[in-house]
Amino acid sequence: RTVYVNGDYLPENEAKVSVFDRGFLFADGIYEVASVLGGKLIDYPAHMVRLHRSANELGMRFTVSDDELLAIHRELVSRNGLEEGAVYLQMTRGATDRDFTFDTEKLTPTLVLFTQARALIDSPVATRGMKVITIPDLRWGRCDIKTVQLLYPSLGKMEAKKQGADDAWMVRDGVVTEGTSNNAFIVTRDGAIVTRPLSNSILPGITRATLMAYSEKNGIRIEEREFTVEEAKQAAEAFITSATVFVGPVVAIDGVELSDGKPGPVALGLRQTYIEESLKRAI
Ligand code: PMP
Repeated sequence: RTVYVNGDYLPENEAKVSVFDRGFLFADGIYEVASVLGGKLIDYPAHMVRLHRSANELGMRFTVSDDELLAIHRELVSRNGLEEGAVYLQMTRGATDRDFTFDTEKLTPTLVLFTQARALIDSPVATRGMKVITIPDLRWGRCDIKTVQLLYPSLGKMEAKKQGADDAWMVRDGVVTEGTSNNAFIVTRDGAIVTRPLSNSILPGITRATLMAYSEKNGIRIEEREFTVEEAKQAAEAFITSATVFVGPVVAIDGVELSDGKPGPVALGLRQTYIEESLKRAI
């Protein structure tokens, strides 16, 4: 696999970053994941808008142009012959002797991109659905910034796996915030979709935003409000959204089955719509 590091395209075993990189020492870095279908990037412009926002919120310098970033994405997809999967991009504040304080202006951000081949359309998540557990949301107060500080979500997924589930939904102040790496939705008995409003407590998912726009166009009612785990367990359906899963039906929450333990029709319909519409707009 060819990866990109600070201006160079290298074989993955030759690609290196400094041990003093602040991304490595302080999780002082941000990332994006854009999926690839048929060799084309899905929802790409929105991912780059969010990357700029993350950099701004952390006062990180942005040293590549949007044109360059798109060119790098396309070059990696092409060099690696990627048909289906994702492009991962990570940008850190840069490398400097270890110190809690830093002078951003004197640092050169580290930029790394690589591809991951993966079946996204024919995924087991879509056919059998996902089981989720719930865990307390112990993350910091700026979950709206897409930082590489992913230890808690990583441990949450491991706990889910240990319990025979696929993922965890996090709960703060009695309501669901989001999944460890996705946004959480439920479907009410009268067919409306419910997801919590954006705030510092969740990541503004690109797939969430796109799906909500498609839903509105298709006349599906959206209720942007908080919901409890109890309400979710009694919902007609539940699902998650993320760049690499698209729409993932949830079939059980803490062992309580939803829609007879099978992916629900609303979630599957939205998944189909998302894939079809996004393919039309892929670049
Ligand atoms: N929430 C969290 C915590 C995430 O990590 C992700 C995916 N990175 C999402 C939501 C979904 O965002 P997107 O649709 O942009 O992939």
